[in-house]
Amino acid sequence: VSRPVPKPGSSLRLTLVAIHPGRSPQSVPLAAAFLAAAVTAAFAEAVTVTILDLYTDQSAEECARLVRETQPDLAGFSVYLWNRSLCCAVAGILKRETPPLTLFCGGPEATADQQQLLAEAPWDFLIHGDGETPLVAAVRLLLGGREPAAAAGVATLPAGLLQSNPATPLKELDELPSPLLSGVLEPSRYAGMLWQISRGCSFNCDFCFDAGGSRQVRRFSVQRLEEELRWLVQQRVSQVFVLDSTFNSDKARAVAILRLIRKIAPAIHFHFEVRSEFLDREQANLFASITCSLQIGLQSGSSGVLQSVGRRFNRADFVSKVNLLNEAGAIFGFDLIYGLPGDSLAGFRASLDFALGLMPNHLDIFPLALLPGTKLAARAAELQLVHLPAPPYTLLASPAFPAAELAIAGRLAEACDIFYSRGKAVSWFLTLLAPLQLPPSELLLRFAAYLGDKRGAADALDDSAIFALQTGFIATLYAAPGAKRLLPLALDLVTYNHHYAAALMAVPPQPLSKKGLARLRMAELQPQLAPSARLADFSYDILKLLEVESGDLKQMAKLLSPAASLAVIYPHGGEIRTETLHPAYGRLLERLDGRRSVAAVATELGMPLADAVEFVTFALGEGIVVLPGNNQ
Ligand code: SF4
Repeated sequence: VSRPVPKPGSSLRLTLVAIHPGRSPQSVPLAAAFLAAAVTAAFAEAVTVTILDLYTDQSAEECARLVRETQPDLAGFSVYLWNRSLCCAVAGILKRETPPLTLFCGGPEATADQQQLLAEAPWDFLIHGDGETPLVAAVRLLLGGREPAAAAGVATLPAGLLQSNPATPLKELDELPSPLLSGVLEPSRYAGMLWQISRGCSFNCDFCFDAGGSRQVRRFSVQRLEEELRWLVQQRVSQVFVLDSTFNSDKARAVAILRLIRKIAPAIHFHFEVRSEFLDREQANLFASITCSLQIGLQSGSSGVLQSVGRRFNRADFVSKVNLLNEAGAIFGFDLIYGLPGDSLAGFRASLDFALGLMPNHLDIFPLALLPGTKLAARAAELQLVHLPAPPYTLLASPAFPAAELAIAGRLAEACDIFYSRGKAVSWFLTLLAPLQLPPSELLLRFAAYLGDKRGAADALDDSAIFALQTGFIATLYAAPGAKRLLPLALDLVTYNHHYAAALMAVPPQPLSKKGLARLRMAELQPQLAPSARLADFSYDILKLLEVESGDLKQMAKLLSPAASLAVIYPHGGEIRTETLHPAYGRLLERLDGRRSVAAVATELGMPLADAVEFVTFALGEGIVVLPGNNQ
């Protein structure tokens, strides 16, 4: 097969393929963009680079057709756990149908599992480690009509024998052209943006790729990050996923970056991964002062289990650091893994109880995956960890965690995701548990049983469907004689927080000025309830309930008497407001539909027109109702 050597005046066409696990704000081809920026900087017009976004729900045939449509001479795939088999299938089709096309792969799976991945598909070469310098070297060889196999950082499999050239280490990450500043990414095509601020990890957890064995962390300079931050603001990016597996391991640098964010990009939502042991009050306050959420890799609540995979864990220190976040009002979540060596169903439930007792905003739970190239995968047989041989390499059974119990843990994980994380239960979860004297994992196990066949496709459940499941389940939980009298109070708390969270996420309408309101002929207007405003019925006076809310349902029940109320909950001026309404005004709001006039609805309800006009004037000023065309 002849290699592509562009004719004088034409250019080599390189397509970099990113196959994403789904369509989400994190589905950004950042690795491809780093490569594209490096190749473009090295060769300018001599190489035409295309970045192609594909998704794992597309067939191999469709992916291959879309790659071919870019008419590449050279095509590279970023291979991860979730796309390995699809990448290999696409490479097989491309090589069969377009033999002169040169194919290569890179990414974490390529680095960790070179021989096996090269054997799995007709790759011409594989790039391991940092991909930019090896790819530039390989393209230079190709442009000269030579084989790329000689490039540093490139591996091939001639006659089934691995030939892997050591990579030339990058001295400084800043040597790499920025994938953001170089313009190779078009941010308006993506719902979010990835922002890599370091590479590597100084920890060495046995189950993880990121440590890469060297425990070396390299960081982009704060000066470069500041330029990228300004670019993110200019490009109106709304949310950024910070790629640094231990953002706060260098405390001074973390504080400097957080201050920059507060100054330059206060409107962008950032997601960070942090280590609890490095948290302090200053960081907690800074995290709370910007728009962000933190993810902390707890993995297990058992120090014995964590020790067995190379992690140290001081439970008391963890609790005190998380308390700093709670005191500051920072938003955070934990990762948990079930099935680590020594873990069992009882151990996982204890981890779940420990984690939820610390009031995280969300909990992301995964089964153990034995990733090729990690220390744990190498010890799998010795530890009798039976796992899928192919991606996602999930644990199937271990001596302490038989398959049937792993299945129960999986159901618990799903129940936690729906009921707690997506159900935004953090503000009331422990309050509801206390009178029932149930540990969190027991409640979730019962919710898993309640879900049964009600849930349909778990991924497709929207906020309203989850709210209906939560309230239905809570009604069954509180059906017991001792708890029954607390049910209305429990449901009021859940209902209020559901609507509050929805109002918080909603975009408020443009407020009308007093002058603007005064000019309107109110009785003739045809307003409607704003999409950002929520009307809700309660069994108690919701404002009094909020005043006495203490985390203790029994105590609250002593202080309050049932008194039905109707409230509207809505965003206004950067806060969420709650107004209780006379039922007549509630009916007025329900009937205002954007088609009938205020006067007509007032007549229907038998309400004096002056009262209706006064209320609608107030509601328009607050953004509770909007005029059609001004409801954003
Ligand atoms: S799990 Fe986190 S801390 Fe441990 S090696 Fe991986 S990235 Fe580093």
